[in-house]
Amino acid sequence: MRVYNTLSKRKEEFVTLEPGKVKMYVCGPTVYNLIHIGNARPMIVFDTVRRYLEHKGYEVNYVSNFTDVDDKIIAKANEEGVSSQEISERYIAECKKDMEALNVRPATTHPRATQEIDGMIAMIQTLVDKGFAYDVDGTVYFRTRKFQEYGKLSHKNLDDLRSGNRSLLVTGEDQKEDPLDFVLWKPKKEGEPSWPSPWSDGRPGWHIECSVMSKKYLGEQIDIHAGGEDLIFPHHENEIAQSECCNGKEFAKYWLHNAFLNIDNRKMSKSLGNFFTVREILEKYDPQVLRFFMLSAHYRSPLNFSADLMEAAKNGLDRIRNAVSNLKYLMECGAPAGDQSGSAAPNAAGGKQDSISRDADSGMTTEEEGLLAAIKAYEVKFDEAMDDDFNTADAIAVIFELVKFANSNLSSGNSRVLLQAVYDEIVRLSDILGLIVEEKEELLDADIEALIAERQAARKAKNFARADEIRNQLADQGITLLDTREGVKWKRA
Ligand code: AMP
Ligand code: ZN
Repeated sequence: MRVYNTLSKRKEEFVTLEPGKVKMYVCGPTVYNLIHIGNARPMIVFDTVRRYLEHKGYEVNYVSNFTDVDDKIIAKANEEGVSSQEISERYIAECKKDMEALNVRPATTHPRATQEIDGMIAMIQTLVDKGFAYDVDGTVYFRTRKFQEYGKLSHKNLDDLRSGNRSLLVTGEDQKEDPLDFVLWKPKKEGEPSWPSPWSDGRPGWHIECSVMSKKYLGEQIDIHAGGEDLIFPHHENEIAQSECCNGKEFAKYWLHNAFLNIDNRKMSKSLGNFFTVREILEKYDPQVLRFFMLSAHYRSPLNFSADLMEAAKNGLDRIRNAVSNLKYLMECGAPAGDQSGSAAPNAAGGKQDSISRDADSGMTTEEEGLLAAIKAYEVKFDEAMDDDFNTADAIAVIFELVKFANSNLSSGNSRVLLQAVYDEIVRLSDILGLIVEEKEELLDADIEALIAERQAARKAKNFARADEIRNQLADQGITLLDTREGVKWKRA
């Protein structure tokens, strides 16, 4: 498997620090508003990377933070006359709802900056002790000149940056030894949340948060660090400086960055005001269409948002879903199963006698066995696409090929084993991308009542495993159970 590493600017063979395990950190959102679909791009893309790594058999420890202390959060809190915490709690909850809708799995850990202040103070203290940081009147800066490798990720000409930044210095910042020095700790201003520290009552800078949370939950060295490409400089460059100077080790092996989601070829962002929230888009489209749209381009290619492309994504997803439901229909309308060799089997053209000899166990003809083998080739191609720096666009093209194969080769005359295998393969490959293509069958009221009765009986028999299984099965269908004094009541979501 090869992945593009921003650090080396080329694709590299993926080799983990520990065999079979991946430690992965993805910079999460600053929570002061509903997330926009630009923010959703790294969430979807790196969730897909995680799913694919798991498909390859890796155990993935996936950490993604919420930045819950920041100027924008404080401004919003002041605007509403509530605490910063109230704002961040509210938008973390909203963000989680959007993630769930987009089938983005929760991280192994979602740390929050405000709960990790002790670790930040400790790391800053180490940097001060080692001479990599200095305190001026309660503000602590990182001494970039002391880190020889500063700039290695962003490949920028630092002298140009220094002279450019010098003229941009704002009042107060002239205390810095170097224009590229950045803040690790800053003293509080009136009305801001603050914590005591050896330097001042104040709060951490943004960059130190990720160095600390990554270290705490994943260790000093990690395999993958990821985020949007706007984070390469200065955020990730600064994270490298802090972590490597503090720990004396290479921080992350592979740096992955997604390109922007644009509108009219400009980055979608809150500050430009050219954004759609995920919530707005989900009023018009199935969340899976948005996910499909994001994955229809390679993650390192800019993606322009437009109604036309969303329509194309909807059609693409429908094509896969139609093939899946058609296969289901073919299976239901009488495909021969195993042990039915020579039995009558209607095909799509209608009720022709099947006199072909079939394998006694699988019910498959020799020709079908050939088709089954051909399916495996699609899986290999899918993995090849994803092994090449997670090329989801090509991986989707392979699913389309499989759909075409199903549409042109299969009918109800085929054995159930073959139909089921093709069905499973389409669903499985889609699932690796986090795309849900199976139609959820609506449970009828009578089915629900029957399951509830079965659950009651299971509980009486102290078979709690079965009782829980039924509760979960119903929950999957959006049905919640309420145990009341009058018995079990249920409602649909
Ligand atoms: P923020 O809340 O601005 O810190 O952003 C959270 C994540 O979303 C970061 O990884 C950003 O790089 C990413 N991001 C923000 N806007 C876009 C965009 N228009 N396209 C792609 N990624 C974005
Ligand atoms: Zn970060």
